[in-house]
Formats: sequence, structure tokens, C-alpha cells
Amino acid sequence: MASSGTGGTTRNCVSCGRSIEWNANVCPYCGHDYRMQAYGQPVKKETAMPTIGGVLILIAGLIELAGGAILIGGSTFFISLDFGGAALAICGIVIAVIGVIALLGGVFAIQRKHFGLAILGGIVGLGGWFIPGLIGLILVALSKDEFKD
Ligand SMILES: [Zn+2]
Repeated sequence: MASSGTGGTTRNCVSCGRSIEWNANVCPYCGHDYRMQAYGQPVKKETAMPTIGGVLILIAGLIELAGGAILIGGSTFFISLDFGGAALAICGIVIAVIGVIALLGGVFAIQRKHFGLAILGGIVGLGGWFIPGLIGLILVALSKDEFKD
């Protein structure tokens, strides 16, 4: 109970600790400026979580895209043998499209926008790179507050 500055017309400067006018814009002792805090928007806490999560999801998407491309490439060989090539090609296309969705989700996560699409990308990216993709998905889900929409 050394000094409680509450209740009076003074407060303690957060910078130098001296007693200053309650509504002072600038501390007369150390010059600490309070106007920025008064007029600035509430500072949104930003973490690295969406960026790290987004990169992991992006890589998972790239792996899926590469896997799909390999399947499509391989399918031409099986088509030439007339042996399930078409099914393989369709599988490859589906996996490649899923990879692109995951890739976009990763990009959105890094940009902190379209939370729903970032999550969707993270979920479909699990097929490409499961454990890191899951970590990425969790990181993005935990940082929902940092997304613009
Ligand atoms: Zn001060």
C-alpha cells in the first residue's frame, strides 16, 4: 500500500513512475506521450501462429499437388496399356484440386483472412502431410481472433 493513485486526479506515469495529471497528454517529467494510446485503435495482438500454420498447410498442399501431378503423369502410361488409366487420372486430378485448395488455405492463413477457407485448406491438406498439416491446422484454429474475416 505504498501509493495508490486511484481515486484522485493524478496517476503514475507508466514510463517514469512519477505522479502526473490524470488527463495529461504528455508526461511533464519524461515526455511519455499518452495521445497515441488514447486515439489509436485497440492494439490487436498478433502472433506468428497463422504464418507458421499457413506455411505448413501450404507445403501440405504442394505435396498433394505434386502427388496429383505424378498420378496424372503415371495415368498416361496406364492409359497406353488400357489398364485403369482413366480412374488413375481422375484420382490425380481430384488430389491436385484438393492440393490447390490446401495451398490457397495456407496463403489465406498467412494473410490472416478468410478464416473458414484457411481452415478448409488445413483440413484437406491433411492428406498431403498429415502431422505437420495437423499442427498447421491447430495453429490457424487457435489464432482465429487474428483473422480479418
Ligand atoms: Zn513520465
